Amino acid sequence: MLKSHPCGELRSTHIGQMVELAGWVHRLRDHGGLIFADLRDRSGIVQVVGDPSRSPSAHAALAEARAEYVIHVRGIVRRRPVGAENPNLPTGEIEVEAHEIRILNPSRPLPFSIDEDGRRIDETVRLRYRYLDLRRARMQRNLMLRHQATRVIRDYLDALGFIEVETPILIKSTPEGARDFIVPSRLHPGKFYALPQSPQQLKQLLMVAGVEKYYQIARCFRDEDLRGDRQPEFTQLDLEMSFVDREDILQIIEGLLIELVQRVTPHKRLRVPFPRLTYAEATARYGSDKPDLRFGMELVDLTDVFHDSGFEAFRAVVRSGGRVKALLAPGCASYSRREISELTTYVQSLGAKGLVTLSFTGDGVKGATAKFLTEGEQAVIAERTRAEPGDLICMVGDTSENVTKAMGGLRLLFRDRLRLADPDEFAFAWILEFPMFDWNEEEGRWEAMHHPFTSPMDEDLDRLETDPASVRAKSYDIVCNGYEIGGGSIRIHRRDVQERVFRLLGYSPEQAQSRFGHILEAFEFGAPPHGGIALGLDRLVMLLADEPNIREVIAFPKTSSAVDLLFNAPSEVDERQLGELHIRVVREL
Ligand code: ASP
Repeated sequence: MLKSHPCGELRSTHIGQMVELAGWVHRLRDHGGLIFADLRDRSGIVQVVGDPSRSPSAHAALAEARAEYVIHVRGIVRRRPVGAENPNLPTGEIEVEAHEIRILNPSRPLPFSIDEDGRRIDETVRLRYRYLDLRRARMQRNLMLRHQATRVIRDYLDALGFIEVETPILIKSTPEGARDFIVPSRLHPGKFYALPQSPQQLKQLLMVAGVEKYYQIARCFRDEDLRGDRQPEFTQLDLEMSFVDREDILQIIEGLLIELVQRVTPHKRLRVPFPRLTYAEATARYGSDKPDLRFGMELVDLTDVFHDSGFEAFRAVVRSGGRVKALLAPGCASYSRREISELTTYVQSLGAKGLVTLSFTGDGVKGATAKFLTEGEQAVIAERTRAEPGDLICMVGDTSENVTKAMGGLRLLFRDRLRLADPDEFAFAWILEFPMFDWNEEEGRWEAMHHPFTSPMDEDLDRLETDPASVRAKSYDIVCNGYEIGGGSIRIHRRDVQERVFRLLGYSPEQAQSRFGHILEAFEFGAPPHGGIALGLDRLVMLLADEPNIREVIAFPKTSSAVDLLFNAPSEVDERQLGELHIRVVREL
């Protein structure tokens, strides 16, 4: 080792010791006579002093050094002079008087400063020089935190008897909802592997194999257009168990998340046990199947109020089967016309036709719509929303789906504007009883809302063919602060039920056989009842690290257009490689 101690660990107990340090020159201050260098390694920073009267050669070497040069220092730890201590630095009581300094490698001037958190630097430059960006303290902390989180996960699951099994990255293309990344086979011309969207089928096969308790920190690949904060490859904590029901999985994951927060971010507040809501409840009360439960502002249903109302717009909505919902924005009655029109534009961007607002003043409601409402209607609205003088009542009337989307969005907009959510709280919750299927309007067919291996609820199984929309799934999502951080289900383990689900999803028996024959066949060999879950590790670590997006907790992420700016991937490959793969690239002109 070139070093006897990590820089950041030197303290006054080391005073008088000869130490060897190595690291990067973080900052330099040349005081004419003395040169002070902040020497940085992964553990932190320590001050090194080059004193020409003590060691002219060390001083001369330091005079040559620049920011981010890699140097080796031999020197004596000494107490800093009175008044020169730095209480903001763990090593601030001491400094190292350099006796010998070697420059191990110089550095070009950096494209950006690493002496700050990086939030103001253009992200494309950060990603282009990611190996420099990762030197900053914030990024080192994030890497460390991610490491700790996966360690806690492994320890916790190991103690419960889970074993980690690796599953292949080259598998068969059986799209699970998203598009597959495919890999051409050199040995089998015209054939392709796919990268797994998740180890879903493999972990189910491990249950058939008798593994009983499996987990994996698994890389998953989905070739999607990258909406929002997503990556084409991401990491899941993937888990599966045999002989369990829903309750077992919920308990294990709840225990794991509590353990994670207590061990990795003990300063955060948690509410236990985690609340549980059905999908229907979550969307009705919060306008979202991943509600942020750190604050109230529940949606209030006013549909019945407008059935015979003189307010034509809402009456028409209600009579054609739509809904009217309201939320109460405390203290916002004084919003200007411009502010209200911003809110309106926002709900319209979410698909709603418009927004109706009423200001509650204490003696009734005011607003352009108020004159269309009877006193009785005004009173019911005020009472149901529990309006206080000074509050703003926001109402949307539209199809049920549009109301949910608009009100869910508006609720989050007020969360941010009015700072309603405590940044130091993790509000985990379970969302249960999702619908099994979603109707895909464009393609005119049913889709599995979770995935096709999810079991329908026993009491709904009879209606699988006759009323698929009403069938609920044995699935569950875990959400936190408005993010979905994981989801799973109790699975189908019988061939006949799996075949019925495939049929409903529009697969002919031949298609089901060619895509999923392996799993259908496995179910004929004594497949145990089983279920599992996957947690999005990137998003979970992002929350633990208080970061605004998952790229901050991934060492080498891609941009939102799926480009790796450091390697410049994807890139062209040469003709010979293509030839070996039996591929000709057709470029559209
Ligand atoms: N494979 C599922 C997913 O990636 C998770 C699960 O059902 O365990 O969403």
